[in-house]
Amino acid sequence: MATPVIRPLVAGNWKMNGTAASLIELDALSSLAAATPAGCDILVCPPFTLIAQASAKLKDTAIAVGAQDCHMNTSGAHTGDISAEMVKDLGGQYIIVGHSERRADHHETNDIVASKAAAAITSGLSAIVCVGETEEQRDAGHTLDVVADQIAGSIPPGASAHNTIVAYEPVWAIGTGKTPTVADVAQVHSFIRETLAERLVTGTQVRILYGGSVKPGNAAELMAADNVNGALVGGASLKASDFDGILNAYRSA
Ligand code: PEP
Repeated sequence: MATPVIRPLVAGNWKMNGTAASLIELDALSSLAAATPAGCDILVCPPFTLIAQASAKLKDTAIAVGAQDCHMNTSGAHTGDISAEMVKDLGGQYIIVGHSERRADHHETNDIVASKAAAAITSGLSAIVCVGETEEQRDAGHTLDVVADQIAGSIPPGASAHNTIVAYEPVWAIGTGKTPTVADVAQVHSFIRETLAERLVTGTQVRILYGGSVKPGNAAELMAADNVNGALVGGASLKASDFDGILNAYRSA
């Protein structure tokens, strides 16, 4: 299926990294991004503790702020949790849900992920829904089945290209320095595109990000694959110079 014209998104996931001192990286990133604008949307998802300060710092820049998770409910007796409304209140525009680290560490099922994505959407934010297979699942030849199951179960009713982004993140590629081949990425992204097109009226326009060991040195070839509409970046989003190097994939030569 041909790739429609979709504005890409490059999103940084700081995970459980960063204190107030790390915000200096956002100053550097906004300067670099302003000096050489990239033809993509740019997003940084720091830990909850830094969302307010990041939002204030990036207010008049082209860089949006998001969160790495939210609770499925708007408010209530959920000690330690943060709602999508709270993220919005802090200036967040996107929420990552269903990251494989949360699926593994917090036993998040597809149903839970779908509820969290629905909460983000109901609050007027965009949900970035993560899917991806483990190494064992890939070795067993189950990649497409796993991804199909996660998409079927994790994308909520009400999802559209306007409020939902899918991030394909093979678990074995996250933080390992290993990446699938460009052909493998294209195959899975084409499959996700077909699945979304069957399921959503706007499925051909949903952004599908690739995530897993994206670095300045491999971003251009990964981002050039069919149906790759940007990146979800972990480790290389922590340093402005690395993250900016990834944005080069969307700058003209
Ligand atoms: C991630 O955790 O979403 C991720 C892609 O991490 P990394 O870029 O470090 O592999």
